[in-house]
Amino acid sequence: MCRHLVYLGPPAPLSRLLFDPPHGLEHQSWAPRDMRGGGTINADGFGLGWFPSADLPQPVVYRSARPLWSDLALPALAAATTSGAVLAAVRSATAGMPVTESAAAPFHDGPWLFSHNGRVTGWPDSVTGVAAGLPVRDLITLDAPTDSALLWALVRARLRAGGPLGDTLSQVVGLVAAAAPGSRLNLLLTDGRSVAAVTYGHALSVRAGDGTVLVASEPLDDGPAWRPVPEHSLLVADPSAVHISEGIFS
Ligand code: GLN
Repeated sequence: MCRHLVYLGPPAPLSRLLFDPPHGLEHQSWAPRDMRGGGTINADGFGLGWFPSADLPQPVVYRSARPLWSDLALPALAAATTSGAVLAAVRSATAGMPVTESAAAPFHDGPWLFSHNGRVTGWPDSVTGVAAGLPVRDLITLDAPTDSALLWALVRARLRAGGPLGDTLSQVVGLVAAAAPGSRLNLLLTDGRSVAAVTYGHALSVRAGDGTVLVASEPLDDGPAWRPVPEHSLLVADPSAVHISEGIFS
């Protein structure tokens, strides 16, 4: 279990995602509510990726191998940093995978920010055939020797070839789920304008309205506007519309 979220909308302080809500990402790091798939807390690192302004089309990324709550500078930085497009994640490392800064989401390249919540069954042998489709360059430049970093390499190769966000995620989930049945593959991807997400083994909720959309592993508060995204769905959204395609992996 990791916890992750994407916010798209008018620029707002990062603290409104991390610290201010009663069940913001900092709270989810030490008191997550939906712990299917194992794990108890998300203390093995965190990451923030945010687009600072429309003039700077590339996101800024800050990752750490420490628990989010232990970064004493972060509350003030998050209150002073505003953005209209954010991906944030806290990590609970899967057994056998290293706790390093580079294993924490978001994984990033150009305008893209990516996160994986779950694990690939039988890693790494189960996905040898899937990885064989990647250029060797992509394999030797993996961020970390983890399942999430390989998933990112598979996603990134398709994005670079011009694949749309949603189709790219569903293709990669289809490939990996076939090669490694029983995997948990909740994926989250944004280019700063839209967000795509897959539910495959873990929770996800969405809240949209007033020109904003927020997609998160767990609702940040008890407000009535949150709705759960059904299992085996592909969500594609921007601040003006949310589309959920259900049952596409069953
Ligand atoms: N398997 C991934 C990792 O170890 C994601 C873990 C998770 O979702 N808890 O980084």
